[in-house]
Amino acid sequence: MMSRPEAAPVPGCGICGLIAQIRAGGFEDFIVELDRHFVILGEAQFYRGYCALLMKSHCTELHALPPDQARGAFDEVLLVAASIASVVRPLRLNYENLGNQEPHLHWHIFPRFEDDLMRLEPVWMRPPAQRKVTLEEQDRRALIGELRAEINRRRRF
Ligand SMILES: [Zn+2]
Repeated sequence: MMSRPEAAPVPGCGICGLIAQIRAGGFEDFIVELDRHFVILGEAQFYRGYCALLMKSHCTELHALPPDQARGAFDEVLLVAASIASVVRPLRLNYENLGNQEPHLHWHIFPRFEDDLMRLEPVWMRPPAQRKVTLEEQDRRALIGELRAEINRRRRF
């Protein structure tokens, strides 16, 4: 449910492009819509349960958001993180808000597991060919369904 008008998409922004796909119903890895973010299953499923939160409006710096909006956005990061932890039971979670390649605000939440030989390193140190694991269709749909159910169960807004 959208509670307020959204900022216009910015031409050339990859994340605005993804959001347009999600809004059109054409994005397979869509999990759930929250007040401030769309949540998707990320493509690097070597880290099973990895999700990204895409801020609905094209904002580029956390510190430039009005404080109540920044706190509200962070509440959603925590909601998704707790849900991922509950579904995939990782050793720990990594949180990343980078914006170097796509300045539009977004968060990566990566579950890290005991059996990852590179678990002391940031996820980006693992070569793309290794981390960009695509799950089998049935498994992917089941995981998306579990994450969606857990987020909806926990959300209070
Ligand atoms: Zn954008």
